[in-house]
Amino acid sequence: MIIDGHVHTPFCPHGSRDTLKQYIENAISQTYSSISFTEHAPLPPSFIDPVPTKDSGMELKLMEDYISTLQELKINYEKDITIHIGLEVDYIEGYEKEIKEFLNTYGDSLTDGILSVHFLPTPSGYVCMDYSPNSFKKLVDAHGGVNGVHRLYYQTLLRSIEADLGRYKPTRIGHMTLSHKFQNLFPTEQFFTEETDAVLASIKERNYSLDMNSAGLRKPYCQATYPHPSILEKAIRKGIPLVYGSDAHKSEDLGAGYSQLKQYVSKGY
Ligand SMILES: [Zn+2]
Ligand SMILES: [Zn+2]
Repeated sequence: MIIDGHVHTPFCPHGSRDTLKQYIENAISQTYSSISFTEHAPLPPSFIDPVPTKDSGMELKLMEDYISTLQELKINYEKDITIHIGLEVDYIEGYEKEIKEFLNTYGDSLTDGILSVHFLPTPSGYVCMDYSPNSFKKLVDAHGGVNGVHRLYYQTLLRSIEADLGRYKPTRIGHMTLSHKFQNLFPTEQFFTEETDAVLASIKERNYSLDMNSAGLRKPYCQATYPHPSILEKAIRKGIPLVYGSDAHKSEDLGAGYSQLKQYVSKGY
């Protein structure tokens, strides 16, 4: 039985148009016991999406539809599978107040959630770190090299864990090592052990959990899970719950990488 805590939907402006029914039927056929739909939350109203297609988050006006559609499916399929209504919420430094306001508005209807960092600052504005090799390169140029980007990413991730985003703040940290998405193009000799240890310690301190994300295995320049097994083993030793996440943006990606990760899945997750 698979529990998948990180799945996108047709409400995602950069995902596939696969229907929720396709996701759910595929999940059931793969013997999923639980699926969490965690669409990219709408970005803060005053934040300008730096990606050229402006499609990093779902549209705010679709939120009611997103929630009510999932509520209906949750009931229709309750005999076959547990459906969680969640969001992947972006932590963007400096926008904490707006993120908190958004969560306070919709948090009551949500039953799961992921907190992720995709956007990092440069002197000429925010950049979506994982959008393309070119966007990563912008960060490399702005922060004195590849290692500078990793350090800034982990620093921001730590701030996201510590941030006050109110009572509906998601407590599962998304793809912890996303800064390695283009690691084959932007290699580094460093392991960032100090940084990742600090992240794990902070997660443990707050009783948060980790999204054990298989998307990196499908990225040609990454070919690794987020995080790497050595970090997963450390997390297990610390007693941090690990939740498998396919991060599927199309229904056929459900269950991807599960065979590599199932040995790390925490009991009950
Ligand atoms: Zn996405
Ligand atoms: Zn993400």
